[in-house]
Order: sequence, then C-alpha cells, then structure tokens
Amino acid sequence: MNKHLHSEASEQADSAEDVVLAEQIKLLFNGIPFSGITTLINGSILAVIQYPVVGIKSVLVWGLVLFLVTAWRSWLSFRYYRDSQSHSLAYWHRHFLVGVILAGLVWGASAIWLFPSNDTAHQVFVAFVLAGMTAGAMTSLAYRMEMFAGYSIPALLPLIINLFLQESLITTAMGTMVALYMAMIQVGARRLKINYQQNIQLRLESDSRERARRESEERYRSVFEHSPLGIMHFNNQAGIVGCNPRFAESLGSEQKDLIGRNIYALVEDENILAAVRASLEGENSYFEGEYRAVLSGKLIHVKAYFSPVRDELGEVIGGVVLADDTTERELVRNELQTTQLTLSRILNTIPVRVFWKDQNGVYLGCNQLFAVDAGFDSSQDVIGKTDRDLSWDATLLAYREMDQEIVDNGQSLINFVEYREYADGMQRWFEISKVPLKNSEEQIVGILAAYQDITNRKLAEQRMQLAMHKLEEANEAKSDFLSSMSHELRTPLNAILGFAQILEIEPLSERQKTYTGHILDGGSHLLDLINQLLDLSRIESGKLEISIEQVSLQAVINESLSMVMPQADKAGLQIINEVDAETEVFVMADFTRLKQVIINLLSNAVKYNREKGWIKLNARVSENGKVRLTVSDNGIGIDDKDQEQLFEAFVRVVADKSMVDGAGIGLSISKYLVEMMGGVIGVDSERNVGSSFWVELKHVDEGELRKLEDTQQSIRTLKTIDSDTRLELIYIEDNLSNLSLVKMIIDNYPNIELRTATSPIEGLTLLSKSTPDLILLDINLPGMDGFEVYSRLRAMPHLMSVPVIAVSANAMADDIRRGMEVGFTDYMTKPLDIGKFVKLLEDRVLLKQAETQA
Ligand code: ADP
Repeated sequence: MNKHLHSEASEQADSAEDVVLAEQIKLLFNGIPFSGITTLINGSILAVIQYPVVGIKSVLVWGLVLFLVTAWRSWLSFRYYRDSQSHSLAYWHRHFLVGVILAGLVWGASAIWLFPSNDTAHQVFVAFVLAGMTAGAMTSLAYRMEMFAGYSIPALLPLIINLFLQESLITTAMGTMVALYMAMIQVGARRLKINYQQNIQLRLESDSRERARRESEERYRSVFEHSPLGIMHFNNQAGIVGCNPRFAESLGSEQKDLIGRNIYALVEDENILAAVRASLEGENSYFEGEYRAVLSGKLIHVKAYFSPVRDELGEVIGGVVLADDTTERELVRNELQTTQLTLSRILNTIPVRVFWKDQNGVYLGCNQLFAVDAGFDSSQDVIGKTDRDLSWDATLLAYREMDQEIVDNGQSLINFVEYREYADGMQRWFEISKVPLKNSEEQIVGILAAYQDITNRKLAEQRMQLAMHKLEEANEAKSDFLSSMSHELRTPLNAILGFAQILEIEPLSERQKTYTGHILDGGSHLLDLINQLLDLSRIESGKLEISIEQVSLQAVINESLSMVMPQADKAGLQIINEVDAETEVFVMADFTRLKQVIINLLSNAVKYNREKGWIKLNARVSENGKVRLTVSDNGIGIDDKDQEQLFEAFVRVVADKSMVDGAGIGLSISKYLVEMMGGVIGVDSERNVGSSFWVELKHVDEGELRKLEDTQQSIRTLKTIDSDTRLELIYIEDNLSNLSLVKMIIDNYPNIELRTATSPIEGLTLLSKSTPDLILLDINLPGMDGFEVYSRLRAMPHLMSVPVIAVSANAMADDIRRGMEVGFTDYMTKPLDIGKFVKLLEDRVLLKQAETQA
C-alpha cells in the first residue's frame, strides 16, 4: 500500500518534471535558428580572418563541417516544430544534446585547425571568438546545464589545452584565464538555469491557476443559467445587473427586458420593496407570498431570499435575490386541500361509519359518525387510539383478530353481518366491510372499514320471515284440507257413480233414464273437478312429481283423442287430426301428465265451440329443437285482454261463466305441468273466430332416438334364458314407450309372460285376480303414486310375498332409499339398465326352478 502510494507520488513528481522538461526543450529548440545564424556569421568571420595564416584548405574543411552540423541541427529543429509529439521528450533531449556537443566540438576544433602556432594576434582572435560564442550560447542553452556544458566544454577545452601546450608564459596565462572563464560561465549558466526554471514553473503555475479560474467561472455560470431557482442581482440603486433565465421566465418576461431596469419600476408590492431596501442596508431578508409581475401581469407565488453583496472593504454594493417560484406547487396544494375537504365532507355526510387503522390497530382516521359511536365528540379525538382506548365492550375486541388476518393475508371482508346484544338487552346488527389499506406501492399498511347499522332492516326481515312462515303454514293447511276433502268426497262419489252405472243397465223408463244420465253427467263432472282440485293442492304444496322421458307424441294424442271423442261426437263437433301418423315424433315429457294437458285443451275446445264447429290437432318440429303441438278450434274465441290471465287458477272469461261448466283450473294446471316438463304453453285467439292453444316441448332428436334403436339392437342380441320354467310378470306403467321397451325385452324369452296396466286402478284390478311371480311398478303414476299402489297390493293376502320392483325416473339417492325402506324388493331407475334387468329376470327364473324342484 505504502509502496503504491509512493510510486504514485513519484509518478506525479515525474510528470511535473516532465512538464518543465518539455518547456525547457521547447525553449532550447526555439534558440536554434538564432544560434544557427550567429554560428554562420561568426564562422564566416573566423574563416576570413584566419585563412591567410592557416591556409585555405583547413578553413574550407572546418567551414564545411560547421555548416553540416548547423544544417543537421536546423533540420532537427524543423522536425521538432512540425510535430514535437512524434517522439518522446527523451528522444528530442538526446538529439539536441548530440547536436550541441557536435557544435561545441566543431568550435573547439577551430582552436586546433585554425590556430596559427606563432601568430599571437590570430590566436587571441580565435580565443576571443570562442569566448564570445560560449558567452552567447549561455542565453540560448542555459535552460539545461548538460546542454550548456555539452557545448561550452568541448568548445573551450581544446583552446585551453592548445594554449598550455605553447609553453610560453603568455599562452600559459591565457590558458589559465580561459580555463577560469570556462568555470565561471558554468557557474553563471547554472544561476541562469535556476532562474529560468523558476520562471518556467511560475508561468506554468499561473497558467493552471488561470485555467482553474476559468473553469470555476464556467461552473458558476452554468449553475446560474440552469438553476431551478431564479437568481437576480442588483446594484446599490436597485438597478438590475443580471438575472438567470429561470428568474425571467417565472416573471413571464425575458432576460433582456429586465436587465438594466430598476426594481422600483418593476415591482409594486411593498413587502418585496422593503426586502430589497433591507438587503441594500446590509441585512438578509425574506419574502413569501403572491405578487403580480408589473411587466407581464403574471400572478406568481414565490419564496424569495434577499442578501446584500459587498465589496472587499465590506461596503454594500448591491444585492442578490434567490427566488423559488412555488406557483405550481401552491396550485397542487390548493387542489389537494380541496380534495381533502371534499373527501372529509363526504365521509361526514354518508350514513355509514368509516374508519381506518394502521397495522398495529392504531386509528389513523374516521368519520364523525364513527367518532360518536366510539364515544367521542370529533374524529380528531379517535386518531392515535386503539380499540382498547375506546369504549367498546369485550366482544368487539375479538374482531381485532379478524383485522390482523386482513393485514396478513390482504383479503377483503365484504358485507359481514355482526350481531351485538347489549347489557340492557338492546339488540343491534351491523353490516361491516373491511379491506386492506394500501399505500401507493401497493403494500398493506392497515385496514379500511365501513359499517352500517342495519338493525331496522334486520327487524323488518325477521317480521317478514315470520309472516312468510305463517303464510306458508296457512297455505299448507289449505292444501292439506283440499287434499283430504277431495279424498273424502271421492269415496261417496264412487258409490254414486257406480250405482248410477248399474242403474243405467237396468230396465228403466225414459224419464228415469234421463235422470240417471243427469246423475252420471253431474257425478263425472264433480269427479273431474275433485281430481283437478287435488292436482292443484299437490302443485301448491310442491308435492306433485313428474318423470320426464321420451314420449311418442302420436301415442299420447291417440290416447287423449279416445278420451275426448265421445264428448265431441255428442256435441256434433268434428275432430281433425293433422298429426302425421306415419313418422313418429318423440318429445321429452311425462306421458300421463302430457295426456292430461292435451285432454284439457281438447275438452276446452269442445266446451267453448259453436254448433257444427271443428277441432284441429297439429304438430310441427321447429328448428330450435322444439315440437309445437297446437289444438285449434273455430269456437267462441277469447278477447285479447282476457288471454293473459287465462292460465291463472280460477280465472274464467266472464261471458261464458253461466253457459259452460268449469272451475277455471284446467289451464292453470296445464301451464304448471308443461313448465315442469321444461315446455311452454300459450294461446292465439280471436273473439268469435276461434282459439289455438299450443304446447311446446323439447324434441328428442335422431341422435337420442338412435340410442333407443341401439337399445333395441342390443335387446335382439340378448342371450336366451336357458330354462323351461315359466315366469309370470305384471308391469304397471303409464309411459307407453317404457312399456314397449320392456315388452321387447320379454319377447326374447318365450317362457316369460308379461301383462301390463297403464293406470293404478287398472293395475290393481289386474292384480286382484292374479298372482304373478314378479311385479314391476312405476312410481310416478296418474291419480295414485307407486307407494300407494304398493301398500294397497300388499294388503291383498295373495300378493303378500310376491316380489315388487320399483321402476322410476327419480334417480336421486333419497328416492331410492325411501323405496327400499317401504319394502320394495329392488329399485330400478329409468332409463332401464337392460343388462341388470335381464339378470334380475334370470335370477327369478332360477329361483323358481329351484323352488319347484324342491
Ligand atoms: P274451465 O274450462 O274449467 O273454466 P280452464 O282453465 O280450462 O277452466 O279455462 C279457463 C277459461 O279459458 C275458460 O273458462 C274459458 O273462458 C277460456 N277458454 C279455455 N279454452 C278455450 C277455448 N278453446 N275457446 C274459448 N275460450 C276458452
């Protein structure tokens, strides 16, 4: 380290020496032209004076050598001037030294070659010339000692030696004097050299000082020019001496407009003028505020520092002002203040409590409502406090953990309801939202929360819920009443209808027949009504269940028509079925419920028709995957205004009330059923022209149908059950497509006999007369569900141990569990798993086989 420092120091010293050396070499080369000229003049004079005594030959040889040396030195100096940088200092130094030594030697040679051995006057002349030359050389070579010595010693030494060799008193004395002279001019040259060196150093120093001064001035000027502060200086008369661009710019003027003007003419503000005067009296002063520049009229906000400027004697000669133009900052500050004010007004106006805390739960701010809640007069009182300092009860402190979580995880808590019960029994609810409070770098620095007292809303909600509950209860009671009443009514009605039917076949008088007809008509209408009421109560209590399957539209229509045909015939109406009988159309529906809807529409078309009217049935597959079935008539029609409410329960069109039987329930039930099947029902009608009621249901497209075909295909390839044991099977199912599927399966097995029923009553009648080996029972049956059928058949002694398998579209675990609990042997879901079904049949056959063999 030390070594390093040392070497660095010496390097610097070297470079300082080099600067001096370079300067010396430059001065040395500067001297060459002059010394060349003196050399040639003195050489010529010497040659002319000496040739008579030493002969022309010596003079010519010497003159030639002198000329060559002088020429070489001139050439050297020419090279130096052209490009001194082309070689190192050492090179120029070395070559210059060789040059002077050569010149010195040539001059020294003159004391041998041009020196007459016996002519004292000529000898003295040579000595004189040499002394003159060396004395003259002092001025141009004494910059460096080795140069001067390199010149003067070779020039004088031959003369001294030659003089001593003469061995006369006078020559010896002369030799001694020349030797002394040589020594003395060395000393003189040395002094001169020291002098020169000091001079050079001084000049170099003053050069670098000047450079530093200029640089510093430049720096100051740049600061002055580019300073973001306005700077202006003025003389002791308050005349503007100078200012920087920023100063002029902030006044809305240009520098040239200001310089030379007087401050008193440019400023009207008394405070500023006072500050100027104070600075001219030798004091520092300060101004802050708004003022209007007289020249430009610009209004600026400024902070200005005034200071006196003094001369060397301490006399005030003027002043300087540093002005910070804060107009824009002031604007931003004002805006910020306005925003803050608006914000705090908003916070204090909204009917919500707002507060924000830092990470440690210290309140940073809140609105007035919150402050009051916390037991203070103003929000300022809350700032800096924590929940422990506020008058919360202990339960609230628990929410601090929640706050901590928000700070830690950054997750917001929105509309969280908080319930509080106070010591005096008062209940209150609050709805709180808390979000993380973030700084501009998106770092979480606390939480921001807002809450609302929602006690009134909560109480209203509670009252509402209570009312709803009561309403539901009342509704349920009504539905229960309706359903039990319907059941109760049906039993005596069955008796009435049964006996009236028996009466009908007895031999009766015409009048008795008419009466019986009335009893049957009235009774069946009543039965219809009771069934509808039962449906309605089921619908209202949400107990009505349907199972949606692939249903053949033609099959439903045919069954419906067969039910309505007798009525239509009786009324003398024509039914036209335009539905293509050839290509079957399948829809997603509940078979029985769809039939119910179509029967309702058809019988309405019968009821509200005209004499000799017609009824048309039409089906169209639309592109959006729907099938639209339309039942139209040319009957009495419905006014536009009545059409909308037709589908509401108990709505009948006023004019018809007296004419036709009806309760106004049919359409509302139809609407409900269609919607449960995912469909839409509607009407287009015109008074006295006719009505078209339509039902739209999801079409079963070919892809789905193909599945059915695949099923059929797979049925065909079923293996036969290898046994002769006969098996008798009864299947109660309202959906014809399911029935036909099972039929198809059974067809593969000649030893299994299948009998079917499409309604619960039909099924029970069939079962009352037979004991099958296996009963398949659909759960979703019209009029009576599978569970009821099950309990009725189990009540028949001969059926007590016959296995019953439930088949249902309700595939929910709950339904299956319920089925198994009731006592069904097995529960199969639709669509039927054929493999499972066949396996079941096989098991039954094998079981029976084993039983009979035993
Ligand atoms: P109901 O037929 O038992 O009165 P609905 O709900 O089936 O009850 O029908 C409601 C009302 O809609 C009927 O009272 C009748 O005024 C009107 N309506 C239904 N179908 C037709 C139709 N095809 N033509 C004219 N009016 C009809």
